[in-house]
Amino acid sequence: MANVLWFQGGACSGNTMSFLNAEEPSVVDLVTDFGINILWHPSLGAEFGEKAQKLFRDCASGALPLDIFVYEGTVMLGPNGSGRYDIFADRPMKDWVTDLVKQAQIVVAIGDCACWGGIPAVAPNPTDSIGLQYLRSDKGGFLGSDWRSKMGLPVINIPGCPAHPDWLTQILVALASGRAGDIALDDLQRPKTFFTSFTQTGCTRVQFFEYKQSPSEFGQGMRTGCLFYEFGCRGPMTHSPCNRILWNRQSSKTRAGMPCLGCTEPEFPFFDLAPGTVFKTQKVSGAVPKDMPAGMDPISYMALAAAARVAAPEWSKEDMFVV
Ligand code: SF4
Ligand code: SF4
Repeated sequence: MANVLWFQGGACSGNTMSFLNAEEPSVVDLVTDFGINILWHPSLGAEFGEKAQKLFRDCASGALPLDIFVYEGTVMLGPNGSGRYDIFADRPMKDWVTDLVKQAQIVVAIGDCACWGGIPAVAPNPTDSIGLQYLRSDKGGFLGSDWRSKMGLPVINIPGCPAHPDWLTQILVALASGRAGDIALDDLQRPKTFFTSFTQTGCTRVQFFEYKQSPSEFGQGMRTGCLFYEFGCRGPMTHSPCNRILWNRQSSKTRAGMPCLGCTEPEFPFFDLAPGTVFKTQKVSGAVPKDMPAGMDPISYMALAAAARVAAPEWSKEDMFVV
């Protein structure tokens, strides 16, 4: 049995909503089949008022063993370092976090805000929001780079805006069944099993990517064309399994005609959402994408792109999904 406590800081509750939609395994499976004891969760916790506060205090003091502390949302430091923009159970949330992480065997950050600050931390960051162990791509965050849980682990980051629910429930199963040591993390503390391949891995548009074929306008190419060249798709440089572990078991952004926004990377939202940067590929000299597919340099890209366009067969310009 593993005791899990879930707190929510500066967040939209998107990761909670995502979690409740988990399927492989579901939240019910976690409880009935995998030995997860949800002590409290913002949408599932049965206790409220004084009873809930006592439970939180018991976790914070160590009177109630805390195996896994899941944190959703940013830690708000404002105003002026007081944390009073986010009061929860009569205290600044940042003070609860400080006490709870000391008792937790394992700490999991769920969603971009908890991992790296996400949208709340975009300049001018009015709430002085920060992630648990990162601020955007800078290591440190609220806990500091050297922080480790009671089990000796750094914060396990499961990013996304929101994260796919099965990424979290599968990691919770591994943690609750004593396999924490088997979870290899990448250099951003993300489980490698989910964040080594790219969003593009498994994308149904990849043949259009190969031949540099783009839809001519946004929304036109529901089934044809690649969204990298004009519409800002970050699939070739975003680490996520979104086209391997499908959403609702059947689709993904790119399968539905929506560019990947790169939400599993610490720089998300890219270009701080400046006007003209969303759904639009940023280019140098009007021709070369500013952000290259991972591992590619601009010279090789230009040579490859020119050859691919010349070589593109007729079928690569057509709708292949005929019904
Ligand atoms: S739509 Fe995006 S993920 Fe799919 S092939 Fe094009 S760039 Fe890659
Ligand atoms: S497709 Fe891209 S933006 Fe969408 S959830 Fe996956 S990583 Fe995030």
